[in-house]
Amino acid sequence: MSGLFGLDGRVAMVTGSSRGIGNALARGLADAGATVVLHGANPERLAASAAEMAADFPAGRIHSCAFDITDAAAAADGVRWVGENVGELEILVNNAGIQHRVPMLDLDVKDWDRVLATDLTSAFLVGREAARSMIDRGRGKIINICSVQTDLARPTIAPYIAAKGGLRNLTRAMTAEWAASGLQINGIAPGYIHTEMTQNLVDDVDFNSWILGRTPARRWGTVADLIGPVVWLASDASNFVNGQTIFVDGGMTVVV
Ligand code: NDP
Repeated sequence: MSGLFGLDGRVAMVTGSSRGIGNALARGLADAGATVVLHGANPERLAASAAEMAADFPAGRIHSCAFDITDAAAAADGVRWVGENVGELEILVNNAGIQHRVPMLDLDVKDWDRVLATDLTSAFLVGREAARSMIDRGRGKIINICSVQTDLARPTIAPYIAAKGGLRNLTRAMTAEWAASGLQINGIAPGYIHTEMTQNLVDDVDFNSWILGRTPARRWGTVADLIGPVVWLASDASNFVNGQTIFVDGGMTVVV
């Protein structure tokens, strides 16, 4: 795809794209012309996802790279591998994340640390390595996948709320340090998205009616709703947008 929103010839990596939202975002970036590196922790699942996506694009457009995003050395090696084997990374989407539900009084510090490491520290580790070469080249896009829990709290998910709130401020901190070098760093905060993972919530009559009543758009989001914003933030169409977190939530966070 050429033009203002086109990503032809640009190398993008989406962390946590072996499945779920990340997989859909990676496909959206590839549809817009990017050469895409899929990523995950589990090499077998990642290889299967990459083979499936590669079948839909010309040869050489879909790659994969497995590493643990909570491991600083592995993150550095992974970003270096992309630069050496695919091309200099121009678009990084920090999407990988986990959830852990337990009341705070019962929360083990190991689980607190694990969620913070996966949902927040990883964006610093992978983002920092990507930024090194982006800064050298004077351009680059980093998109951090936040959540409505960036702004709103709910019981039983304290580390997730802390991490996603921190991710918005990390987006601002990256902007403060790297925007002058030609990078744009922004966040996307998805609302409640109807996926395989949330089908049980959609099927839960009480939860579903709470979501519909709480969302001005009166529906769940879909992964397709996230494609436009991620392509926009990855493209030249957003070259003066910096440090923002865009809520794609049907209006949930602007009403009580
Ligand atoms: P999934 O659970 O479907 O997928 C998580 C991805 O992250 C997988 O690819 C997984 O790899 C990868 N991953 C997890 N831990 C690691 C690790 N330590 N190292 C490397 N990769 C890892 O997630 P979702 O699609 O549901 O969520 C994606 C993002 O969107 C998250 O940041 C989440 O917080 C956010 N979000 C999700 C919403 C939703 O409704 N689902 C709503 C709002 C935000 P592997 O397959 O190898 O395990």
